[in-house]
Amino acid sequence: MTLQETLQGAQLLGLERLDAQMLMLHTQQHRVHDRAWLALHANDLMDHTALQSFNQLVQRRVAGEPLAYIIGHKEFYGLTLRVDARVLVPRPDTETLVDWALQVLNTHTHAHVLDLGTGSGAIALAIKSVRPDWRLHAIDYSNDALTLAQANASAHQLTIEFSQGSWLENCTECFDAIVSNPPYIAEHDPHLAALQHEPIQALTSGCDGLDDIRYIIQQAPAHLKNGGWLQLEHGYNQAPAVRQLLQQAGFEQVQSRCDLAGIERCSGGCWLQAPQHSN
Ligand code: GLN
Repeated sequence: MTLQETLQGAQLLGLERLDAQMLMLHTQQHRVHDRAWLALHANDLMDHTALQSFNQLVQRRVAGEPLAYIIGHKEFYGLTLRVDARVLVPRPDTETLVDWALQVLNTHTHAHVLDLGTGSGAIALAIKSVRPDWRLHAIDYSNDALTLAQANASAHQLTIEFSQGSWLENCTECFDAIVSNPPYIAEHDPHLAALQHEPIQALTSGCDGLDDIRYIIQQAPAHLKNGGWLQLEHGYNQAPAVRQLLQQAGFEQVQSRCDLAGIERCSGGCWLQAPQHSN
Protein backbone atom coordinates (compact mmCIF):
# COMPACT_ATOMS: atom_id res chain seq x y z
CA MET A 1 0.00 0.00 0.00
CA THR A 2 1.13 3.56 -0.68
CA LEU A 3 1.16 6.34 1.91
CA GLN A 4 -1.79 7.91 0.13
CA GLU A 5 -3.87 4.71 0.25
CA THR A 6 -2.97 4.17 3.90
CA LEU A 7 -4.12 7.70 4.72
CA GLN A 8 -7.41 7.14 2.90
CA GLY A 9 -7.91 3.92 4.90
CA ALA A 10 -7.43 5.83 8.17
CA GLN A 11 -10.01 8.41 7.10
CA LEU A 12 -12.50 5.62 6.40
CA LEU A 13 -12.03 4.57 10.05
CA GLY A 14 -13.27 8.02 11.05
CA LEU A 15 -10.03 9.95 11.40
CA GLU A 16 -9.86 13.59 10.31
CA ARG A 17 -7.61 14.09 7.29
CA LEU A 18 -5.25 16.40 9.16
CA ASP A 19 -4.94 14.01 12.12
CA ALA A 20 -4.20 11.10 9.74
CA GLN A 21 -1.54 13.18 7.99
CA MET A 22 0.09 14.19 11.27
CA LEU A 23 0.15 10.60 12.51
CA MET A 24 1.67 9.51 9.21
CA LEU A 25 4.39 12.15 9.40
CA HIS A 26 5.08 11.10 13.00
CA THR A 27 5.38 7.43 11.94
CA GLN A 28 7.75 8.45 9.15
CA GLN A 29 9.80 10.46 11.67
CA HIS A 30 9.10 13.75 9.99
CA ARG A 31 7.95 17.03 11.47
CA VAL A 32 4.17 16.67 11.87
CA HIS A 33 3.50 19.92 10.01
CA ASP A 34 5.61 18.99 7.00
CA ARG A 35 2.70 18.20 4.70
CA ALA A 36 4.77 19.16 1.67
CA TRP A 37 6.83 16.02 2.34
CA LEU A 38 3.65 13.93 2.33
CA ALA A 39 2.56 15.38 -1.00
CA LEU A 40 5.94 14.49 -2.49
CA HIS A 41 5.92 10.95 -1.09
CA ALA A 42 2.22 10.11 -1.55
CA ASN A 43 3.04 7.19 -3.87
CA ASP A 44 5.85 5.68 -1.78
CA LEU A 45 5.11 2.21 -0.48
CA MET A 46 4.60 1.72 3.27
CA ASP A 47 6.77 -1.04 4.68
CA HIS A 48 5.17 -3.55 7.02
CA THR A 49 6.63 -2.17 10.28
CA ALA A 50 5.68 1.42 9.45
CA LEU A 51 2.17 0.31 8.53
CA GLN A 52 1.80 -1.55 11.81
CA SER A 53 2.94 1.37 13.93
CA PHE A 54 0.75 3.79 11.96
CA ASN A 55 -2.29 1.54 12.50
CA GLN A 56 -1.61 1.40 16.23
CA LEU A 57 -1.55 5.20 16.42
CA VAL A 58 -4.75 5.38 14.37
CA GLN A 59 -6.48 3.04 16.83
CA ARG A 60 -5.47 5.26 19.76
CA ARG A 61 -6.77 8.37 18.00
CA VAL A 62 -10.04 6.66 17.00
CA ALA A 63 -10.47 5.73 20.69
CA GLY A 64 -10.41 9.44 21.52
CA GLU A 65 -6.86 9.95 22.79
CA PRO A 66 -5.76 13.53 22.03
CA LEU A 67 -3.41 13.80 19.08
CA ALA A 68 -0.99 15.77 21.25
CA TYR A 69 -0.53 12.81 23.64
CA ILE A 70 0.06 10.42 20.76
CA ILE A 71 2.73 12.53 19.09
CA GLY A 72 3.97 13.81 22.48
CA HIS A 73 3.90 17.52 21.85
CA LYS A 74 1.68 20.52 21.18
CA GLU A 75 2.28 24.01 19.81
CA PHE A 76 1.32 26.81 22.17
CA TYR A 77 2.07 30.47 21.57
CA GLY A 78 4.77 29.53 19.07
CA LEU A 79 6.47 27.11 21.48
CA THR A 80 6.59 23.35 21.01
CA LEU A 81 5.72 21.85 24.39
CA ARG A 82 6.06 18.26 25.49
CA VAL A 83 2.73 16.93 26.72
CA ASP A 84 1.42 13.60 27.95
CA ALA A 85 -1.38 12.24 30.12
CA ARG A 86 0.11 13.94 33.22
CA VAL A 87 -1.16 17.33 32.00
CA LEU A 88 -4.03 18.96 30.16
CA VAL A 89 -3.33 19.62 26.47
CA PRO A 90 -2.80 23.39 26.07
CA ARG A 91 -5.71 24.89 24.07
CA PRO A 92 -5.45 27.75 21.59
CA ASP A 93 -8.19 29.52 23.64
CA THR A 94 -5.70 29.92 26.48
CA GLU A 95 -3.53 32.12 24.25
CA THR A 96 -6.18 34.81 24.92
CA LEU A 97 -5.18 34.74 28.59
CA VAL A 98 -1.49 35.06 27.70
CA ASP A 99 -2.18 38.03 25.41
CA TRP A 100 -4.20 39.73 28.12
CA ALA A 101 -1.56 39.25 30.81
CA LEU A 102 1.10 40.63 28.46
CA GLN A 103 -1.15 43.58 27.71
CA VAL A 104 -2.07 44.66 31.27
CA LEU A 105 1.57 44.65 32.38
CA ASN A 106 2.91 45.93 29.08
CA THR A 107 4.70 48.96 30.53
CA HIS A 108 6.26 47.07 33.46
CA THR A 109 9.83 46.00 33.39
CA HIS A 110 10.65 43.29 35.92
CA ALA A 111 7.00 42.37 36.55
CA HIS A 112 6.52 39.42 38.87
CA VAL A 113 3.93 37.02 37.46
CA LEU A 114 2.44 33.78 38.79
CA ASP A 115 0.91 31.00 36.67
CA LEU A 116 -1.33 29.11 39.08
CA GLY A 117 -1.96 25.46 38.14
CA THR A 118 0.66 25.55 35.43
CA GLY A 119 0.25 21.98 34.06
CA SER A 120 2.63 21.68 31.10
CA GLY A 121 3.97 25.16 31.94
CA ALA A 122 2.27 26.61 28.85
CA ILE A 123 1.14 29.97 30.22
CA ALA A 124 4.29 30.72 32.22
CA LEU A 125 6.56 29.73 29.32
CA ALA A 126 4.59 31.71 26.75
CA ILE A 127 4.78 34.86 28.90
CA LYS A 128 8.46 34.37 29.68
CA SER A 129 9.26 33.80 25.99
CA VAL A 130 7.84 37.22 25.14
CA ARG A 131 9.05 39.02 28.28
CA PRO A 132 12.40 37.59 29.39
CA ASP A 133 12.72 40.65 31.66
CA TRP A 134 9.80 39.46 33.83
CA ARG A 135 10.13 37.07 36.74
CA LEU A 136 7.83 34.06 36.30
CA HIS A 137 6.70 31.75 39.04
CA ALA A 138 4.59 28.63 38.38
CA ILE A 139 2.73 26.50 40.91
CA ASP A 140 1.01 23.15 40.50
CA TYR A 141 -0.46 20.65 42.93
CA SER A 142 0.76 17.74 40.83
CA ASN A 143 4.45 16.83 41.07
CA ASP A 144 4.07 14.90 37.81
CA ALA A 145 2.92 18.06 36.05
CA LEU A 146 5.79 20.04 37.59
CA THR A 147 8.34 17.51 36.31
CA LEU A 148 7.01 17.93 32.78
CA ALA A 149 6.74 21.73 33.07
CA GLN A 150 10.37 21.86 34.25
CA ALA A 151 11.45 19.76 31.27
CA ASN A 152 9.64 22.19 28.96
CA ALA A 153 11.31 25.16 30.62
CA SER A 154 14.77 23.57 30.23
CA ALA A 155 14.09 22.62 26.61
CA HIS A 156 13.34 26.26 25.81
CA GLN A 157 16.03 27.63 28.14
CA LEU A 158 13.47 29.76 29.92
CA THR A 159 13.88 30.42 33.63
CA ILE A 160 10.74 29.82 35.66
CA GLU A 161 10.58 29.38 39.45
CA PHE A 162 8.50 26.27 40.10
CA SER A 163 6.89 25.21 43.34
CA GLN A 164 4.39 22.62 44.50
CA GLY A 165 1.25 23.66 46.31
CA SER A 166 -2.50 23.66 46.47
CA TRP A 167 -3.24 26.97 44.77
CA LEU A 168 -1.66 29.73 46.90
CA GLU A 169 -1.42 27.75 50.14
CA ASN A 170 2.39 27.45 50.33
CA CYS A 171 3.07 30.76 48.61
CA THR A 172 4.43 33.74 50.55
CA GLU A 173 5.09 36.13 47.67
CA CYS A 174 3.17 39.00 46.07
CA PHE A 175 2.73 39.42 42.32
CA ASP A 176 1.90 42.01 39.69
CA ALA A 177 -0.36 39.44 38.03
CA ILE A 178 -1.75 36.02 38.90
CA VAL A 179 -2.84 34.17 35.78
CA SER A 180 -4.61 30.82 35.86
CA ASN A 181 -6.39 28.26 33.73
CA PRO A 182 -7.92 26.28 36.59
CA PRO A 183 -10.31 23.32 36.35
CA TYR A 184 -13.73 24.77 35.60
CA ILE A 185 -15.99 22.04 34.23
CA ALA A 186 -18.98 20.95 36.35
CA GLU A 187 -18.56 17.45 37.79
CA HIS A 188 -21.41 15.90 35.77
CA ASP A 189 -21.00 17.93 32.59
CA PRO A 190 -21.66 15.79 29.48
CA HIS A 191 -18.60 17.40 27.75
CA LEU A 192 -16.37 15.33 30.04
CA ALA A 193 -17.06 12.24 27.94
CA ALA A 194 -14.88 13.74 25.19
CA LEU A 195 -12.07 14.57 27.66
CA GLN A 196 -11.65 11.19 29.33
CA HIS A 197 -7.95 10.87 28.45
CA GLU A 198 -6.97 14.08 30.24
CA PRO A 199 -6.35 14.34 34.02
CA ILE A 200 -9.75 14.78 35.68
CA GLN A 201 -8.26 16.88 38.50
CA ALA A 202 -7.27 19.47 35.88
CA LEU A 203 -10.79 19.58 34.45
CA THR A 204 -13.57 19.42 37.05
CA SER A 205 -14.33 21.66 39.97
CA GLY A 206 -17.45 20.95 42.01
CA CYS A 207 -21.06 20.84 40.93
CA ASP A 208 -21.06 24.18 39.06
CA GLY A 209 -17.41 24.08 37.95
CA LEU A 210 -16.61 27.18 40.01
CA ASP A 211 -15.19 25.76 43.27
CA ASP A 212 -11.53 26.40 42.40
CA ILE A 213 -12.26 29.78 40.82
CA ARG A 214 -14.09 30.86 44.02
CA TYR A 215 -11.14 29.68 46.09
CA ILE A 216 -8.53 31.44 43.93
CA ILE A 217 -10.51 34.71 43.96
CA GLN A 218 -10.65 34.53 47.73
CA GLN A 219 -6.92 33.76 48.16
CA ALA A 220 -5.49 36.05 45.47
CA PRO A 221 -5.80 39.47 47.19
CA ALA A 222 -3.26 38.37 49.85
CA HIS A 223 -0.77 37.77 47.02
CA LEU A 224 -1.33 40.78 44.77
CA LYS A 225 0.61 44.02 44.86
CA ASN A 226 -1.35 47.26 44.77
CA GLY A 227 -2.53 47.51 41.13
CA GLY A 228 -1.94 43.78 40.53
CA TRP A 229 -4.21 41.75 38.25
CA LEU A 230 -5.97 38.43 38.68
CA GLN A 231 -6.85 36.88 35.28
CA LEU A 232 -8.73 33.60 35.03
CA GLU A 233 -9.79 31.34 32.18
CA HIS A 234 -13.27 29.86 32.63
CA GLY A 235 -16.05 27.98 30.84
CA TYR A 236 -18.05 29.35 27.90
CA ASN A 237 -21.02 30.31 30.11
CA GLN A 238 -19.25 31.34 33.34
CA ALA A 239 -18.16 34.93 32.58
CA PRO A 240 -21.08 36.68 34.39
CA ALA A 241 -20.63 34.49 37.48
CA VAL A 242 -16.84 35.01 37.57
CA ARG A 243 -17.19 38.79 37.13
CA GLN A 244 -19.66 38.83 40.00
CA LEU A 245 -17.29 36.84 42.24
CA LEU A 246 -14.45 39.26 41.41
CA GLN A 247 -16.61 42.30 42.16
CA GLN A 248 -17.85 40.84 45.43
CA ALA A 249 -14.23 40.21 46.50
CA GLY A 250 -13.37 43.88 45.93
CA PHE A 251 -11.59 43.72 42.56
CA GLU A 252 -11.85 46.76 40.28
CA GLN A 253 -11.90 47.20 36.50
CA VAL A 254 -13.55 43.79 36.33
CA GLN A 255 -13.82 42.69 32.69
CA SER A 256 -13.76 39.72 30.32
CA ARG A 257 -11.92 38.78 27.13
CA CYS A 258 -13.19 36.65 24.23
CA ASP A 259 -11.45 33.62 22.76
CA LEU A 260 -10.93 32.98 19.04
CA ALA A 261 -14.54 31.80 18.71
CA GLY A 262 -15.81 35.09 20.18
CA ILE A 263 -16.83 33.46 23.47
CA GLU A 264 -16.08 35.26 26.77
CA ARG A 265 -13.30 32.93 27.96
CA CYS A 266 -11.32 34.87 30.59
CA SER A 267 -12.31 37.32 33.29
CA GLY A 268 -10.21 39.33 35.65
CA GLY A 269 -9.82 42.40 37.74
CA CYS A 270 -7.32 44.71 39.32
CA TRP A 271 -6.54 44.80 43.05
CA LEU A 272 -6.19 48.42 44.08
CA GLN A 273 -5.51 47.95 47.76
CA ALA A 274 -2.55 46.82 49.79
CA PRO A 275 -2.21 43.00 50.00
CA GLN A 276 -5.01 41.67 52.16
CA HIS A 277 -3.75 39.14 54.64
CA SER A 278 -6.33 36.46 55.05
CA ASN A 279 -4.90 34.95 58.25
N1 GLN B 1 -11.03 24.34 27.94
C1 GLN B 1 -10.99 22.96 28.28
C2 GLN B 1 -12.14 22.24 27.59
O1 GLN B 1 -13.28 22.58 27.78
C3 GLN B 1 -11.04 22.74 29.78
C4 GLN B 1 -9.89 23.40 30.45
C5 GLN B 1 -10.08 23.54 31.92
O2 GLN B 1 -10.91 22.93 32.60
N2 GLN B 1 -9.29 24.39 32.45
O3 GLN B 1 -11.88 21.35 26.83
